[in-house]
Amino acid sequence: MTETPRPAEAPASPDASPPPASVRSTVHGYPRIGPHRELKRASESYWRGGTSAQELDAVAADLRRGVYAQLREAGVDDIPSNTFSYYDHVLDTAVLFDLVPPRFAPPAAADDRDEELRRYFALARGEQGALPLEMTKWFDTNYHYLVPELSPSTRPRLVGDKPVAEFREAAEAGFHTRPVLVGPLTFLMLAKAADDAPEGWEPIVLLDQLLDAYARLLGELRAAGATEVQLDEPILATDEGRAAVGRLERAYQRLGSLSDRPALLVSTYFGSIGAPALRVLKDSPVEAVGLDLVTDDEGVDDLVQVSGLGATRLVAGVVEGRNVWRTDVPAAAATLGTLLALTDELTVSTSCSLLHVPLDLEAETSLAPGLREALAFARQKAEEVALLGRVLSEGAEAEHTGGGGVRPPAFTDARVRARLDALGPEAYERPQDRGRPTEIPLTTTTIGSFPQTPELRRARAAHRRGELSEDAYKQILREEIDRVVALQEEIGLDVLVHGEPERNDMVQYFAEQLEGYATTSNGWVQSYGSRCVRPPILFGDVSRPEPMTVEWTTYAQSRTDKPVKGMLTGPVTMLAWSFVRTDQPLGETARQVGLALRDEAADLERAGIRHIQVDEAALRELLPLREERRGEYLDWAVGSFRLATSGVSPSTTVHTHMCYSEFGLIVDGIEALDADVTSVEAARSRMELVRDLGERGYKRGIGPGVYDIHSPRVPPVEEVEDALRLAVAHIDAGNLWVNPDCGLKTRGYAEVEQALRNMVEAARRVRADL
Ligand code: GLN
Ligand code: ZN
Repeated sequence: MTETPRPAEAPASPDASPPPASVRSTVHGYPRIGPHRELKRASESYWRGGTSAQELDAVAADLRRGVYAQLREAGVDDIPSNTFSYYDHVLDTAVLFDLVPPRFAPPAAADDRDEELRRYFALARGEQGALPLEMTKWFDTNYHYLVPELSPSTRPRLVGDKPVAEFREAAEAGFHTRPVLVGPLTFLMLAKAADDAPEGWEPIVLLDQLLDAYARLLGELRAAGATEVQLDEPILATDEGRAAVGRLERAYQRLGSLSDRPALLVSTYFGSIGAPALRVLKDSPVEAVGLDLVTDDEGVDDLVQVSGLGATRLVAGVVEGRNVWRTDVPAAAATLGTLLALTDELTVSTSCSLLHVPLDLEAETSLAPGLREALAFARQKAEEVALLGRVLSEGAEAEHTGGGGVRPPAFTDARVRARLDALGPEAYERPQDRGRPTEIPLTTTTIGSFPQTPELRRARAAHRRGELSEDAYKQILREEIDRVVALQEEIGLDVLVHGEPERNDMVQYFAEQLEGYATTSNGWVQSYGSRCVRPPILFGDVSRPEPMTVEWTTYAQSRTDKPVKGMLTGPVTMLAWSFVRTDQPLGETARQVGLALRDEAADLERAGIRHIQVDEAALRELLPLREERRGEYLDWAVGSFRLATSGVSPSTTVHTHMCYSEFGLIVDGIEALDADVTSVEAARSRMELVRDLGERGYKRGIGPGVYDIHSPRVPPVEEVEDALRLAVAHIDAGNLWVNPDCGLKTRGYAEVEQALRNMVEAARRVRADL
């Protein structure tokens, strides 16, 4: 530890608090996929059999070394390791502690790297005879983790050495690192009970056994030379985590009391953890606590309430880890200055792992001038923490070192603001007595997209590169729409779609056409496994210069007498899957998007489209982790949706679609959206939802997904029929819609055709018996 006394005249701390022993800098984690998505390419090639295990391991080792070198170059003092993963860090933890369901056969031979990797990837992706672990979103981010399945017979024990091996590997390359582990509480609280576990059994009862396994691991890390280990406990930012202070105390008393162990940093993020949890950590033997001081402003209050951390080191997350804006360095330095009064030892850090932002702004060449200067990606954020560390410990001047909150200039649009201000409450209301959208009970439809064939993808890529003319590209799209419309007619669906062949992605497609949005060329962020997304950047006031979907929707409508449903992406989803400006409340930004969509809906209606679907796939995802904040969120989420959809006539049918199954939390919100028809992903909990809605007297249309599109399996007619018969027992058949549970773009035509035929046949049979 370097002992750099902070000069008393340091500008960052206006009060005369004693100088800290040292101010260091670190990050909680770093992107792992590589500057050019090397990890994606290498692992996909390995899955196809084109790359050997040794080659894959070599790529991974290179990427890890690249990360350490980049962090050192940025000037970061304390470099984390074990932030790398071949697929997901929660999965790594499950494998490390032998928490693997029995359906995944253990490697036949020890030390067979191929066997080991086969099983690892099978857990993530499934294999013959074994469904993969369930995947779900990591807190309120768009990163997905694999959900460990535990049962009373599960015996946690340390069987792997990944954190130790990566620590050693880094040490050999000249980097003394801080291994990062998923904390035991977070791990168990994110796990689920296996299907064969008794009713009511909870994984958390394995805590003591798991702590024994962690204790062994800490011992091995210590033996390998690790001096500090980071245990990530983001669960503490949720209501469940906040309620688990007793277990928190047990866990860290136990780990803290180990005799020969590395120093422990317990890191929390995605929100404040509350004074009770903070007090427990302060009073425990752990040496350092990481707090997110960006996501909400309660972190500092918590610190004040516990009268500071005293001798426990504060790892202060003041550089936002999950958005792309540059840090206002003087303001952050001032915050850190106040924190110096609340702790003896301070480390400057990011609010969370940088996993959630793109790697390097240097790779972007086509961002608008003015915007670029306002951005920081992972590498730039690492430089920011390092700079802040220097500002605090050496009294370096933030102003002179490139800091300063830079905002993109002149990205406000007075017209948009005036239009929004002029809207009265009626802009958010549709008349209540709208009648039923269709006369047919059990109306059949789909969620929007049809399979994106390799030909389509090739054509879009060629068009993008300028190798396929606009005319030729559009001709290909029209032919595709012809085929999709003809197929739907032939199958006998009632409400058709154009199939979305022109869309690369449901958010990016709109972002590219809206003012106020920028897209990046290399801003990849891991979503799950090898899948990466390039979230657009919503930086300014949003408006719609031109219609965005009318051409394709009306073309499809011109090919059929059946109604064609227009497809828009809703305001919440447009925000959730983008990096969004922070200079105004999210709700205000959502209203601007809502207004642009309202214009689009009006144009669709004017062009003769009678069904308009506004997808809110991410409504659940943005739901705040803590209940006390949910009401406010649902207010603006619902308001922006209603702004988008209330401009159309009462006879136009407004649809919405959502992609998840835990509706309990947001069922009020769904009702408040006041859509005529809501289709939901309900493959698992379909009947519960329908029953709940039935009991609530829900009187709008509901389309509980009748089969799971995430698997290539074709549902037999009888299976869909049974589901529908159960559903009509709870919901009036006139309000029941029949559809798959999500868009079909990731599927192949062979299975889609058969599945839709079976679905239509099932609806026909159930209708016949009404
Ligand atoms: N309309 C979109 C589609 O069908 C909806 C996708 C989604 O819900 N994720 O692809
Ligand atoms: Zn969906």
